[in-house]
Amino acid sequence: SDFTSLGLDPALCAAVQAAFSIEKPSDIQEKVITTALGLETPRDILIRSRTGSGKTLAFLLPILHRLLLEHRQSGRTREAARMMGTQLLVVVPTRELAAQSHQTLERLLAKLHGADHWLVSGTLSGGDRRKSEKERLRKGVHIVVGTPGRLVDHLNNTERWAKQISACRWVVFDEADRLLDSGFEKFVKEILGALGKGRIDRLQVCLCSATVDGKRQDLFGYKLTDPLLVSE
Ligand code: AMP
Repeated sequence: SDFTSLGLDPALCAAVQAAFSIEKPSDIQEKVITTALGLETPRDILIRSRTGSGKTLAFLLPILHRLLLEHRQSGRTREAARMMGTQLLVVVPTRELAAQSHQTLERLLAKLHGADHWLVSGTLSGGDRRKSEKERLRKGVHIVVGTPGRLVDHLNNTERWAKQISACRWVVFDEADRLLDSGFEKFVKEILGALGKGRIDRLQVCLCSATVDGKRQDLFGYKLTDPLLVSE
């Protein structure tokens, strides 16, 4: 099968093809996309897969699909869409992984055209770019890829963004076996706390790791919603 036959938006499928020259979804992509598009009520998703399996596009594509469809149906202008704020937060354990996932995302977004070309993404991942990160957040970033420490730094110091993050709808914890290590506990809890302050019923959590087990029901005490395991 190809990406279109999974029910993904044709403009998005064309962008995938143009950005990565891939025609066929990988195993995990086929399973995650079918599952996510088929959910009648929001449920949290656990993705068990190895690095190199195509998991990044697996979790990104159903969310991008939803954002593009909603945008077209809303008739919002690009400026209005910009003001929507952060819709998806991708939390990763290292700066290298943040750069890598963000690059995948940017390559894809660059291939969306016309009315679909409005989504803005950015990284929050440490180093000396703190001021420019703040500036980007102020202007509006729909998809943020970040490392836990720097995300929490902005939650505490970039006031307007910290306030509107409670309207964020999706959070992905990638390489979650490392994020759920005790060293990150404080940060992960703080991120979930900030997201949960708003409309918790609208937040969908996705956990991605090589070792996640279908019995997992919570993240450091944060209760997952009827979690569904998708594995290779
Ligand atoms: P990931 O597991 O997300 O780190 O992806 C690993 C690599 O697989 C990336 O370089 C992708 O460009 C590539 N990739 C992702 N999806 C596919 C696919 N359906 N077919 C072939 N390669 C893919």
